[in-house]
Amino acid sequence: MNNIIFFGPPGAGKGTQAKIISKYLNVPHLSTGDILRKKLLDNDNLANELKEIMSAGNLVSDDILNSIVSLRLKQEKNNGFILDGYPRTLIQSEFLDNFLSETSNSLNFIFNIHINFELLKQRIIKRSSEESRDDDNINVLETRYNEYINSTQKVSNFYKDKFPKMFYEIDGSLQINQISEKIKQILKKPWYSAKFLDILSWLNMQLSCIHPQSFFGFNYGKNIRR
Ligand code: AMP
Repeated sequence: MNNIIFFGPPGAGKGTQAKIISKYLNVPHLSTGDILRKKLLDNDNLANELKEIMSAGNLVSDDILNSIVSLRLKQEKNNGFILDGYPRTLIQSEFLDNFLSETSNSLNFIFNIHINFELLKQRIIKRSSEESRDDDNINVLETRYNEYINSTQKVSNFYKDKFPKMFYEIDGSLQINQISEKIKQILKKPWYSAKFLDILSWLNMQLSCIHPQSFFGFNYGKNIRR
């Protein structure tokens, strides 16, 4: 069974990749942002409260998120899951860990998509012209990005330390299909060879910041033979 988490700042492309991988593996995609946006259509008190929090770019309470996710995971308990946008706080990750161990489940893959803030800004501006999300504008992006740095990055670091073998760094500046190909390759390989390629990719990404040609002299995403 595939139980997967996608991490990344707003606009990094985790939703896009989660959808592609959900189809590829035939595993349910659980986007907490999508679930909350659907709830906004109810126009009741809770919806009004959520709208205020979300349109300002702040995080919705852990209690609300934990109950949404546990309900959905119970429904999908035999199908696996792809979590997109959850867990975003350490309290949520603790809740998820307890939930998984109580239901004799575990995680298999964690993908952390990273991308610099300038590129994020360009993407959010583009997305705001395609979708009408209240939180897709530059002022709100800053709040969302800060929530990510101050809260969610602690969660991804926690998972990186706890599960190094299943944690993969993904370069979010690549094209959509390059990213999904890379993820699919990782999903297909035994962890030790996928991990080796991941370390090479990560080193290449770091070094290419210093020298555009990169230390290894190749663009990992494009040229490496698998
Ligand atoms: P997203 O579509 O994942 O960018 O989420 C959109 C908004 O929904 C976020 O900015 C938060 O306000 C809210 N949200 C989604 N997931 C969570 C979560 N796990 N914890 C708290 N708030 C969330």
